[in-house]
Amino acid sequence: MTLLESSIGVEDLVLLEPLEQESLLKNLQLRFENKEIYTYIGNVLVSVNPYQQLPIYGPEFIAKYQDCTFYELKPHIYALANVAYQSLRFRDRDQCILITGESGAGKTEASKLVMSYVAAVCGKGDQVNSVKEQLLHSNPVLEAFGNAKTIRNNNSSRFGKYMDIEFDFKGSPLGGVITNYLLEKSRVVKQLKGERNFHIFYQLLAGADAQLLNTLKLERDTSGYGYLNQEVSRVDGMDDASNFKAVQCAMTVIGFSEEEILWVLEVTALVLKLGNVELSDEFQANGTQASGIRDGRGVQEIGEMMGLNSKDLERSLCSRTVKTAKEKVVTALNVIQAQYARDALAKNVYSRLFNWIVNRINESIKVGTGEKRKVMGVLDIYGFEILEDNSFEQFVINYCNEKLQQVFIELTLKEEQEEYKREGIPWEKVDYFDNGIICNLIEHNQRGILAMLDEECLRPGVVSDSTFLAKLNQLFSKHDYYESKVTQNAQRQYDHTMGLSCFRICHYAGKVTYNVNGFIDKNNDLLFRDLSQAMWKAQHPLLRSLFPEGDPKQASLKRPPTAGAQFKSSVAILMKNLYSKNPNYIRCIKPNEHQQRGQFSPELVATQARYLGLLENVRVRRAGYAFRQQYKSFLERYRLLSRSTWPHWSGGDREGVEKIMGELNMLSEEVTFGKTKIFIKSPKTLFYLEEQRRFRI
Ligand code: ADP
Ligand code: MG
Repeated sequence: MTLLESSIGVEDLVLLEPLEQESLLKNLQLRFENKEIYTYIGNVLVSVNPYQQLPIYGPEFIAKYQDCTFYELKPHIYALANVAYQSLRFRDRDQCILITGESGAGKTEASKLVMSYVAAVCGKGDQVNSVKEQLLHSNPVLEAFGNAKTIRNNNSSRFGKYMDIEFDFKGSPLGGVITNYLLEKSRVVKQLKGERNFHIFYQLLAGADAQLLNTLKLERDTSGYGYLNQEVSRVDGMDDASNFKAVQCAMTVIGFSEEEILWVLEVTALVLKLGNVELSDEFQANGTQASGIRDGRGVQEIGEMMGLNSKDLERSLCSRTVKTAKEKVVTALNVIQAQYARDALAKNVYSRLFNWIVNRINESIKVGTGEKRKVMGVLDIYGFEILEDNSFEQFVINYCNEKLQQVFIELTLKEEQEEYKREGIPWEKVDYFDNGIICNLIEHNQRGILAMLDEECLRPGVVSDSTFLAKLNQLFSKHDYYESKVTQNAQRQYDHTMGLSCFRICHYAGKVTYNVNGFIDKNNDLLFRDLSQAMWKAQHPLLRSLFPEGDPKQASLKRPPTAGAQFKSSVAILMKNLYSKNPNYIRCIKPNEHQQRGQFSPELVATQARYLGLLENVRVRRAGYAFRQQYKSFLERYRLLSRSTWPHWSGGDREGVEKIMGELNMLSEEVTFGKTKIFIKSPKTLFYLEEQRRFRI
């Protein structure tokens, strides 16, 4: 055991002394500089992105960690994966691995390392191998359609992902289910400075052979596409063409038919071509503004590919039908509105295509019912976000993180409590910050912020982001965790640091100011009915299936749930799923903003440590006892400290440990003897033992 190596910091932050933010950071930095990117907090793994390939992965390391117990070797992601897999197999407990951290911190790489570890150690045989292949190949496909270059991460996942991998009683994989959360679809039509659209567009143009490009009516050069030529089009070290081949191959391995692959690429091409539909100002006979399509040939082509009359397409893009009780009124859209409609269509087609792909993968990896199985869930989801300008997206992401924090506290404390019970030692209540009140502020069915937003979206009459904000201000003016410019804070002072269109929530990780502009629109997520009806009329089998609500027979049905309501219910399902499992945590940290190896920016890491709640984590973890160990291993390590147990000891493990502690005069409140383990309250005691030990050897 190498728990304490002073030159490279403690391997478990629970042993930090003194315990404070500064020592915690110093410890992480010291380890990072020694290429030790992993550190524990009890059974939680903290991982600092090295931005370089370290020689610590692969079959040799997998074999090493497979045969060891958790604390025997250096902290490692394989050790965590091993514990999870072993308890799934031998303790018959479903597991989940929760990976959080901000963009670029290494979550997705961590999830891939966990998956490859599990794939390497679980079961063998042709059948099993083909399941493994399918599961592993889902990654390149989802990354092609769901990842993009951002300024923070060249391969940034723009969606959240939860994957259940299911095993039989022998621990061999049977299949799985993938759930995706909130694809950042705005990227389809607009990219920020220095960023790209989703990888697949560039891959397709670079990697398709001439014949395929011809079929899809595409040009190879990205510069001709309005959705691709806004910012950069290349990523250093990324080979779009060969990645395209890999994606095609992965889709085949998963079980997509040739026809399905072509459908997917056709729909992808359609999105690109929609971006080139140029709209222009026109005037109707009566002088009102309208819009028309400038380049008829482009629309003609799109119509042909969609299997839709191009006049129908044009009409759906440039006008809007409003049905009243008595009649149908068609109004012309002006050019701004028509552009908005075109972009809304492109975003919707793409995000629905993405969902379709996830469902199609699930169809392939689905496990038949009946068989009893064990499950390992892996969650790779965006961490807490505070940007300069925070909008609806940050609001829901932070809500999800608030919920995950709740799971974390409850399950960690529960696990502690259960261990104490198993070991027959008394449990003392731990004080911690319960963020239930913040979760409630957001999600309460009738009085939560999301409910208010829905109410505002569905209310007839004039609604706007500001009527929504006014409602919040009225309702939450006295709430301890809600602030805005017009609500008085505890000191009865107006807050001048905040814009009029903002509200602020005091999250567990810090205060975040949200700007309400766009909340209503984003929550409504409405596509003009004309567009969904047109898409449903298209002959293209995949495209058409993406717009079931366009079926006129469905038109009278209720409107689809709002984006907020959908997110809330998928978070609720996720929480239920997580609560039924034994959690394993990986907390990822980004050491610098430049994707550079060897650079450690203490301020940047400090912020993340706060958002991840690391200090709180350590506090909870050592609320009762900082350190615990099986009698056998403890005796083995400290045997040499007592004349009774060294050099020979023939008694029981527990008696041996009692002898040692007695001889060192350490039988105080500091130490408790459980059924199988010794519990030690303060790290100091352990340091003392270590010191004595070093002294003797
Ligand atoms: P996130 O999913 O948290 O946004 P990623 O997992 O995509 O971040 O990691 C961003 C980049 O950092 C990766 O593309 C890779 O270059 C690098 N990286 C992350 N984890 C590791 C690791 N364990 N070893 C080497 N490089 C890593
Ligand atoms: Mg990612």
